Amino acid sequence: MAISFSLAGKTALVTGANTGIGQAIAVGLAQAGADVALAGRSHPAETLDLIAQAGCKAVNITADLASTAPVTRVVDEAVAALGRIDILVNNAGIIRRDDLLQFSEADWDAVIDTNLKTLFFLSQAAARGMVAQGSGKIINIASLLTFQGGIRVPSYAAAKSGVGGVTKAMANELAPHGVQVNAIAPGYIATNNTAALQADETRNRQILERIPAGRWGDPSDIAGAAVFLASPASNYVTGHVLAVDGGWLAR
Ligand code: NAP
Repeated sequence: MAISFSLAGKTALVTGANTGIGQAIAVGLAQAGADVALAGRSHPAETLDLIAQAGCKAVNITADLASTAPVTRVVDEAVAALGRIDILVNNAGIIRRDDLLQFSEADWDAVIDTNLKTLFFLSQAAARGMVAQGSGKIINIASLLTFQGGIRVPSYAAAKSGVGGVTKAMANELAPHGVQVNAIAPGYIATNNTAALQADETRNRQILERIPAGRWGDPSDIAGAAVFLASPASNYVTGHVLAVDGGWLAR
């Protein structure tokens, strides 16, 4: 059988795509042929433009994903606009940094709710349609902190470790229905999320010294992995966390 990386005729829902990794993934999926619905709290004007330039349909769904309240509406609006959801990318996420001994309950809850709880319940809502149609791809954005503990980011490490676990849990139950669930663990990517680290001269140098590729990743570095995991080429890949990290975990 011919291997296909094409997403022509497919539809995708991507969260947090106004900037950074989510934007690069949404545009990458469109360049591979998918129509894309974007769900987030900020208007993704540039991403909508870039998808249109790729010749695909783009729609925006305004939703604050800090709680699970909008997940059913987001899925319903995406299906209403695009007909169905073939691909869900759970990208929206936040990070809170503070010393362990004073880390607050508010910073714990905010990160766990956005990065883990909403990810699961949005996946559940989208998976109902995917199971009914007998196919689907769910791609969760994990982190190196799915594997490591990090420094001053305990709720982020907990949430992203949870993303690794729930990716496998969903993969196991959805595989019999033709739905694959995988995650991408980006390395150190130059985005708003890592602006504080890039600006800290010492941390920036320490990070660069440890990356075999010798550079920060660009959001576009993540798009190829997302297209692969969204495409028929990955139909027998499920429950996997794919690191895209310039070699960080190999050291
Ligand atoms: P980013 O530019 O800050 O993007 C985060 C996205 O999530 C933005 O679109 C943001 O919207 C959205 N978001 C945050 N809270 C939201 C909420 N309550 N409701 C709706 N949307 C919300 O940073 P990024 O680096 O591209 O992050 C994307 C994903 O990659 C995150 O899950 C992050 O944890 C993960 N990641 C990043 C790195 C890295 O090195 N950059 C490494 C590993 C994993 P607003 O613009 O409105 O805030």
